Amino acid sequence: MSEAKMGANGFAPELGDMSKEDFRRYGHELIDWVADYFEHIEDLPVLAQIEPGSLKAQLPENPPAQGESMSAILADIDKLIVPALTHWAHPSFYAYFATSTSAPGIFGELLSGAFDNKAMLWRTSPASTELEEVTLDWLRQMMGLDAGLSGISYDTASVSSMHAIAAAREGVAQRIREEGMSGRTDLPLLRVYASEQAHSSIDKGIITLGLGQRGLRKLPTDAEFRMDPNALSEAIAEDKRNGLLPFCVVATVGTTSTSSVDPVKEIVPICEEHAMWLHVDTAYAGSAAVVPEFRYLMEGCERADSVVTNPHKWLFTPFDLSVLYCRHMDLLRQAFSLVPEYLRTPEQEKVRSGSDYGIQLGRRFRALKLWMIIRYFGHEGLAARIREHCRLAKEFASWVAASDEWELMAPVPLSLVCFRAVPSGQDAIRLDALNEAIMHGVNATGKALLSHTKLNDKLTLRLSIGNIRTTEKQVRQVWELLNEELRVVLA
Ligand code: PLP
Repeated sequence: MSEAKMGANGFAPELGDMSKEDFRRYGHELIDWVADYFEHIEDLPVLAQIEPGSLKAQLPENPPAQGESMSAILADIDKLIVPALTHWAHPSFYAYFATSTSAPGIFGELLSGAFDNKAMLWRTSPASTELEEVTLDWLRQMMGLDAGLSGISYDTASVSSMHAIAAAREGVAQRIREEGMSGRTDLPLLRVYASEQAHSSIDKGIITLGLGQRGLRKLPTDAEFRMDPNALSEAIAEDKRNGLLPFCVVATVGTTSTSSVDPVKEIVPICEEHAMWLHVDTAYAGSAAVVPEFRYLMEGCERADSVVTNPHKWLFTPFDLSVLYCRHMDLLRQAFSLVPEYLRTPEQEKVRSGSDYGIQLGRRFRALKLWMIIRYFGHEGLAARIREHCRLAKEFASWVAASDEWELMAPVPLSLVCFRAVPSGQDAIRLDALNEAIMHGVNATGKALLSHTKLNDKLTLRLSIGNIRTTEKQVRQVWELLNEELRVVLA
């Protein structure tokens, strides 16, 4: 690289970071770029229209020896990266649980990148530690959760739930932290209970904690995909008779396939009777509790031992931010705290240090973005957006219900609609293939993205509304697309 290029025109200086002039210039360019991205996002296909491996094929195999200019790097964002993106920020993204970032959240991420705090101990980031305590308590209040629950952030619900189950296991007083579980003849099989609709992250948590898949008993659900409390009671009693040690129940408010809501209120007394930990997975639906009229869905959670919710799902928070609310922070701490000499601080007895409550040492400054989001939109502003998503979902569901060619596959308590095409004269096997073809057909247009599940062995399409930019215009458009695709598939 020539001297002239170094440190100017977007090239790195010989030593140190980018010049302040270049930082301003490219920083402003990038914010403009992001503003244009949101303005024109509907011109882009929702699902990346590339073949597997095609991005890799366009990237150099080896890293550049010399720095390249920011202009060249940013040009490749347009040329290489954007075409390889599936646009979660697109207002016609309806797959999985539709989620979206928001402007104050993006600003929070930008600042968090600048601060680069590792909030492992209070002193390594007092701001992150204390802002997290306050912001998560704001969210608790907005959701109407019990004041006995204390919040701590992790990256994902998968990790939050694993930590909850680890704390529950600590509570069984079998010296598992000290002795482990393998090779022990004194330890009965520990069991966790969840419905067959529970998210696979619970299975993974169980596996990670060494409880084994045998350690998770899946319970049947009723016609509306909710855990059957009688089946739970019987399973616990049977396991106890057989010498097992039931210690935790995972209920779900807002299951992944259908957003069904387990009857937490009826599950609570069963857990209390057997002195078992109740963890409630509200990864998706917890955000809806900020809307006063949807709070009833959380009934019973006030007596839960832990509740997980994901602001990165439906609270317009850029990935990642999951919150575990826990009633027994002492047990969580007992399960994970380990302070080597090099991390000892004079104030440690007086303050909370995030690393005491989980597997990670360093922790991101996640609370900043949520704090900015809650302050910018306000509780009522957030509730209004979620309420509107639910209204749109109900409207879409009403079109499905009114049509002879489509049917609803599950109730629609919130913003997820499960449905399928049922044109006359098709047998069950044909219907599965037909619905799959409709979904792939719609997705291939690039104008919308749907995903699917299986309910009662029937392939079911899922339309999830959760994007801050989705309006009635896009929902009408996807309904038209689905009907056009049905005509194509039947032709
Ligand atoms: N729990 C439920 C009910 C979910 O729907 C999901 C994801 O969709 C998860 C847990 C896992 O979320 P995460 O990706 O944050 O681990």
